[in-house]
Amino acid sequence: MKLLDLHNLSQKRLNALQSAGIYHPEDLLLFFPRRYLDKSNFKPIGLLRESDEAVSVAGKVQSVNVTGYKSKKRLEVIVQDGSGSLKVAYFKGWKYFINRYKTGEWVALYGKVKQYGRYMSMAHPEVDQISGPDDVDQFKTLTPIYPSNKHFSKAYITNQLVSNWIQQILNTTTVPEFLPEEILDRYNFPTRDQAFRDIHKPETKQQARQALERFKYEEFYLFELSMAKIKNIRISRADGKILEPGELTKKFFNEQLPFELTDGQKNSLKDIRTDLQSGKQMNRLIQGDVGAGKTVVAIGSMLMALDNGMQAAMMAPTEILAEQHYHTIKEFLEPLGINHRLITGSQKTALRRDIMSDIAGGTCQIAVGTHAIFQDKVEFNRLGLAVIDEQHRFGVKQRNEFLLKGDNPHLLVMSATPIPRSLAMTIYSDLDISIIEGLPGGRKPIKTAVRTDKERPGVYNFIEESIKKGDQVYTVYPLIEESEAMDLKDATMGFEKLKRRFPDFRIGLLHGRLKPEEKDGIMKRFSEGEIDILVSTTVIEVGVDVPNASIMIIEHAERFGLSQLHQLRGRIGRGRKQSYCILMPGQKLSKDGRYRLKMMIDTTDGFKIAEADLKLRGPGDFLGTKQSGLPEFKFGDILEDRLTLEKAKNDAWQIVRTDTDLSKPEHRSLKKVFKPYFKKKAEFFGIG
Ligand code: ADP
Ligand code: MG
Repeated sequence: MKLLDLHNLSQKRLNALQSAGIYHPEDLLLFFPRRYLDKSNFKPIGLLRESDEAVSVAGKVQSVNVTGYKSKKRLEVIVQDGSGSLKVAYFKGWKYFINRYKTGEWVALYGKVKQYGRYMSMAHPEVDQISGPDDVDQFKTLTPIYPSNKHFSKAYITNQLVSNWIQQILNTTTVPEFLPEEILDRYNFPTRDQAFRDIHKPETKQQARQALERFKYEEFYLFELSMAKIKNIRISRADGKILEPGELTKKFFNEQLPFELTDGQKNSLKDIRTDLQSGKQMNRLIQGDVGAGKTVVAIGSMLMALDNGMQAAMMAPTEILAEQHYHTIKEFLEPLGINHRLITGSQKTALRRDIMSDIAGGTCQIAVGTHAIFQDKVEFNRLGLAVIDEQHRFGVKQRNEFLLKGDNPHLLVMSATPIPRSLAMTIYSDLDISIIEGLPGGRKPIKTAVRTDKERPGVYNFIEESIKKGDQVYTVYPLIEESEAMDLKDATMGFEKLKRRFPDFRIGLLHGRLKPEEKDGIMKRFSEGEIDILVSTTVIEVGVDVPNASIMIIEHAERFGLSQLHQLRGRIGRGRKQSYCILMPGQKLSKDGRYRLKMMIDTTDGFKIAEADLKLRGPGDFLGTKQSGLPEFKFGDILEDRLTLEKAKNDAWQIVRTDTDLSKPEHRSLKKVFKPYFKKKAEFFGIG
């Protein structure tokens, strides 16, 4: 069957369907109801009370009248069931309904009850003709209510019409199954065909729920199947580069590093070493809260590559961060005679050409940079390890483009977004995960407080005292409505104000509009203690590390998301001193705003904050699914349907273990559906 076979399909309606993304009958089947009208709640007329909840009644038609004049005409029907009588009224479209009411015959009605004078009444109820008071089973079925859609309403595609079309499709089609029978049995899922029927015309709500569950499972299952397959392909790319840590790695850890590694750092490094020596391609995610010390782990890993004559590359989401990593690497690795280069988008052509030839020639051993690093023209000589910092800032797509750079380099991605472990394992299931728990020792927990504008003088006195004692201060302004201009204005005004208040202090202003050299210069001066107060927009947010800065003032704190506040706060509390985070809300706080600030005061635990943020915002927004290229599921919600996701994951990975190519006969239909699905995914994941 084709869309064109649908009844009552004008050209206009066909266009409307297509505008709504519906091209095939199956697309229409996949247009699911938003909710169901439950018409099974029958009441005797005598017991009806005014209510916002619609009810059903069955009654005999007593009288049918058209009253009023001209355009004000209306249809009035009196219906009676022995317990009382009900007035039914239609104002618009009454001509259409009048035929359904025949004096002396029975009707079933569904609508909201209102009291007018002595009558209980229903305006515009849904009506069916029935043969008597007990003939209500047909009427009782749940009525699907489809999502409203502006294309539909313009073409007069009513809810009823959508429902009719879908029934027409279901009457002429049998939708094939693709899930293995074993899975249908295990979870008691309806077949795909039955599930569509249960969604669009359920007998009970439970039936509709179970059908929906099947569709959620099905989309998670296909997704996880592709993750398993991608991982399989990567693992099979055994490249035989056994990487034994050598001189450089040992020197770095034994001679250069001024501190003991934490247990978390040691464990992550051990995991990485095992991966590298396994002879298979590493795909590892290191998760650790802000300040957990991920950079050192990255450097250690890169050195293992260098010890084996390979190059390493590290990619960061912003120029500031890339530059900072560059400086850290310089500090630690220059004494070891390691050649490293910085590559960013804003470099002059001549310089860039020089760097690229260094990378291509292999003299550059470590390349650090922004996404400029994986652009087409950059060619590595023998890239052995690719590190991606703050990976949640990159799309999955970018992550994989990076992988195409070398000859299947090992991949290490790092993230400070502490998403719950089980969730991470399902959505990043093509990666192995190490978690760095806890922060390096000797740090005092940050103290966080909320101060109002009235208390500003006190706050300023406090900063004054602290700076005199040698502390440094961040003052952060939020991004206002995505407008960089406004954003800048706020920060600039704050900067001017601080300069007036503290004429003797050295105050710097950092924002996204500065040239990279200027930003770099300011950051450098701040980190070398030549700036006392750094006024900044959110460009400061990611990963910047100045241990001597121990105070952070966050202006308009209510405008930041919880995770962002946590990330910002992570810039301080990195040294041995007591650090303070002062949240200054701009105006009245919303309920959410107050909750966010309270969470910030209550805890510094990134996982707790992430959970709270996840609940506040929902996973799509939290994980930035849109920009991160994480899967967007049509039916399932990775948080709410976590259990289903986990089941689907386990089942999918199991099947890839036992029947990698889905070549068993019982997987034939699955293979047919999976093949085109995977083709798209594989392109996306950089697997040719
Ligand atoms: P993040 O995990 O947020 O990227 P960084 O790698 O920037 O954290 O490390 C934060 C700070 O902690 C840096 O100044 C770093 O030198 C320091 N650091 C890292 N590991 C340790 C450790 N084991 N002991 C003490 N300080 C450490
Ligand atoms: Mg970092």
